[in-house]
Amino acid sequence: MVWDKDTKTVVLTGAGVSAESGIPTFRGEAGLWKNYRPEELANPQAFARDPKTVWEWYDWRRGIIAKAVPNAGHQAVAAVEKHFSDFTLITQNVDGLHQAAGSERLLELHGNIWKTRCTSCGAIEEEYSVPLKDFEPRCSCGGLLRPHIVWFGESLSPQVMEESFACAAACRLMLVVGTSGIVQPAASLPLTAKEAGAVLIEVNADETPLTPLMDESLRGSAGEVLPELLRRHKVSI
Ligand code: NAD
Ligand code: ZN
Repeated sequence: MVWDKDTKTVVLTGAGVSAESGIPTFRGEAGLWKNYRPEELANPQAFARDPKTVWEWYDWRRGIIAKAVPNAGHQAVAAVEKHFSDFTLITQNVDGLHQAAGSERLLELHGNIWKTRCTSCGAIEEEYSVPLKDFEPRCSCGGLLRPHIVWFGESLSPQVMEESFACAAACRLMLVVGTSGIVQPAASLPLTAKEAGAVLIEVNADETPLTPLMDESLRGSAGEVLPELLRRHKVSI
């Protein structure tokens, strides 16, 4: 019954859903660049000190992402959206692959790597050049542009957060896919849903701190497990 079309549904995704598209998660060795750990560069102090190095790191990541295409996991998430009349995708990913797979109703908790934000006037613009033309890009107002990404030590957009928690509290079914359940506040969304009585299903290669909350935990890659789950519940892909 929980898979009926009118069930309010949320899918929460993390870096794991993009792993099969060749985009490294942060926790594996593959997330390293020139011996920098992501935490060392993706923070406001590093950008204030050395914006060029931070932009070089983003340019490297944008180069990897530009070559990537959505995988069967992204496609399955887009199919879940088509199946349910009341659906929200909440993603921690910044790569834009969910949109490329056809997801429309989505909240990006951590921003988007294809957008810049002006550190002076706050203007947000799309920017797709790979490689970047300028490693200290400027806004038309003269201000320095930064990636439109929520960095370590920064707060999420209050509106995006409010909407995400409202969706989590209202949903009856939540799929939690490819997230380690460590990064807050995203990791609290399943708890909010659980407390409100939702059915929770996890899809992850490994056990996570969220596993004990789950009604069902499916081990394996999102690209294989999600399509199987949808077939089992007669959701067309
Ligand atoms: P994360 O905390 O979401 O952890 C990745 C999780 O995915 C792990 O639990 C791992 O077991 C699981 N996993 C790995 N491969 C999988 C697969 N094929 N199928 C299913 N599960 C799989 O992500 P993180 O890498 O620790 O990054 C933390 C934050 O950094 C993210 O929330 C995001 O904001 C940002 N980030 C984004 C991207 C992206 O946009 N693709 C990539 C790396 C990091
Ligand atoms: Zn500006």
